[in-house]
Amino acid sequence: MARYKEASCRLCRREGVKLYLKGDRCYSEKCAYTRKAYPPGDHGQGRQKITEYGMQLREKQKARRIYGVMEKQFKRYFKEADRRKGVTGEILLRILESRLDNMIYRMGLARSRTDARQLLRHGHYMVNGRKVDIPSYLTRTGDVIAVREKSKNSSFFKELAEWGAAQGTVSWLEVDRDNMSGKVLRLPSRDELDIPITEHLIVELYSR
Ligand code: SF4
Repeated sequence: MARYKEASCRLCRREGVKLYLKGDRCYSEKCAYTRKAYPPGDHGQGRQKITEYGMQLREKQKARRIYGVMEKQFKRYFKEADRRKGVTGEILLRILESRLDNMIYRMGLARSRTDARQLLRHGHYMVNGRKVDIPSYLTRTGDVIAVREKSKNSSFFKELAEWGAAQGTVSWLEVDRDNMSGKVLRLPSRDELDIPITEHLIVELYSR
């Protein structure tokens, strides 16, 4: 299975925005982007001239990196969004939001999307009572996501439950902290999403 191999913090510095790929560390003063808010490499601090195409490309890369999606799959999501009726950029974001790894992160059942992917691959979660280990699984309204009974008793998940209890809940999800589970009430509208992406630039890029 294809995965990102580049160091996570380099990706934040490259995109010029915090992508929150490392859980707790992202909120601490150890965050590399807080300490070095300029692109990595020898010329990172030099003047950067960016073309229109460059801006569109960066926006697409940023979206891919936030959600941890590889190029081919991202293109597939775009095609699907383009096929559906409505505003393509917003539909694209809703498809990305409906990914199981993202839902698990949003519910506070993992500290980051990267952690969610890893834990998913190890079979720690269920959807509607059945084990699912595919991070790209697209959830639907009404789906119930839960940590498996066997996993809940491990010290790792007990700690995670304590961490999760301190997290807020987004309005489109219902979370049962005691049972380490959550329900998808609906998919979010664009103005509810806190992600720093200008999606129309992605649409422009693929429309070239
Ligand atoms: Fe990005 Fe988190 Fe690394 Fe900060 S700690 S640079 S937000 S991945």
